[in-house]
Amino acid sequence: MTQEASAYENALRLFDNAAEYLDLNPGIVKILRQPRREVAVNFPVIMDDGSLSMFTGFRVQHSTHLGPSKGGIRYHPDVTLDEIKAMAMLMTWKCAVVGLPFGGAKGGVICDPKKMSLRELERLTRRYTTEISDVIGPMTDIPAPDVNTNPQIMAWIMDTYTMHTGSQALAVVTGKPVEVGGSLGRNEATGRGITFVTRESLHLKGMGIQGTSVAIQGYGNAGSVAASLLQDQGTRIIAVSDSRGGIYNPDGLDTRDVIHFKKETGSVVGYPGATLISNDELLAMPCDVLVPAALGGVLNAENAHEVKAKVIVEAANSPTTPEADLILEEKGIMVVPDILANAGGVTVSYFEWVQDLQSFFWTEKEVNDHLHSHMIRSFDQVLAISQEKGVTMRVAAYIKAISRVAKAIELRGIYP
Ligand code: NAD
Repeated sequence: MTQEASAYENALRLFDNAAEYLDLNPGIVKILRQPRREVAVNFPVIMDDGSLSMFTGFRVQHSTHLGPSKGGIRYHPDVTLDEIKAMAMLMTWKCAVVGLPFGGAKGGVICDPKKMSLRELERLTRRYTTEISDVIGPMTDIPAPDVNTNPQIMAWIMDTYTMHTGSQALAVVTGKPVEVGGSLGRNEATGRGITFVTRESLHLKGMGIQGTSVAIQGYGNAGSVAASLLQDQGTRIIAVSDSRGGIYNPDGLDTRDVIHFKKETGSVVGYPGATLISNDELLAMPCDVLVPAALGGVLNAENAHEVKAKVIVEAANSPTTPEADLILEEKGIMVVPDILANAGGVTVSYFEWVQDLQSFFWTEKEVNDHLHSHMIRSFDQVLAISQEKGVTMRVAAYIKAISRVAKAIELRGIYP
């Protein structure tokens, strides 16, 4: 397969590769190689100037064998059905690997939210929700935030769905503001989970967290929270970046000040006291830990041999192509795969869903403690498979996830 393999082809390749280690019923393989449902919607939105624009959105549900499907919604000009299908499948494995009672889904709208006003975004969100409202629901499919979507957008989704059904449905979506059924700790959950698995990986490499150097690509929700929490634990965050470029300081950046600077100026670029670097330079930076926390496919056949980090912790979804995976394995670089490393977000989304269904809300400490035990247990289980079978952490995570879903299919049987 070439470098140009589509996101879904890459997702299938990961599945097929891990499935080889399992004695799966061929029928179950056939089921899992396709999403259960793909919805594409074209819908109008009245813009602030009175003109009408058409938008295209998707919602794909890969699996509902372990429970309702779960997965984020992204707003981005480059959204494609192929990528959403790949991400939906990835969500199935992510939920399964951390032991959640969910299948996988993903949604997206082709749009450039940076060029839209808040009111336009609200109208787009409410209409997109309406278009997909037949296939989402607290016991059917539960969206969440992803790239360029946020708690406010989740609140609009919940409100729109509630207006349609006529009954309060807090649990239809997660990642909401705490005032309307969100969970404490949800915003930081992905970044916090990243810190847990980073610490475990460094421990395996015989290193402590104190003084360890970390480079982070992408300074949004996942990247900036991971940066601050890792810095709190004594690491040096030597480089961070966003879509406009990166900054480098070998002594370590003041991560919260960089967040403040990005909020004020729109980018990390220009932060005083740091050297300007490109995103390519950041990925090739000598450091202990590299955290890709932006978009997919950034570590590929072209740049993987340039990577100098000892450990890669995948905060982004699919940041490493299968070709790059092979190169990194040859170089002896440990990769903590996305479906495990960034599962903190969906895990606390699960806690949010549980709290919404029970109308009983936890303290932040309870959320963080449960998250810690979920992540560490999953990390240890994946590590044990990796050591037992002599495979990478990614293959091990897939083995664990696929076996769990396959068992559920076997037990449920085929309807009718
Ligand atoms: P975000 O929108 O908050 O931040 C994305 C960041 O990436 C921004 O700083 C943006 O400037 C940067 N970026 C965009 N294009 C880039 C490019 N070409 N080069 C370098 N940087 C670029 O998104 P997020 O929620 O932090 O998500 C980041 C990644 O983590 C995505 O792959 C997402 O799917 C994944 N993820 C996020 C969560 C979560 O809870 N936030 C959970 C699981 C996975």
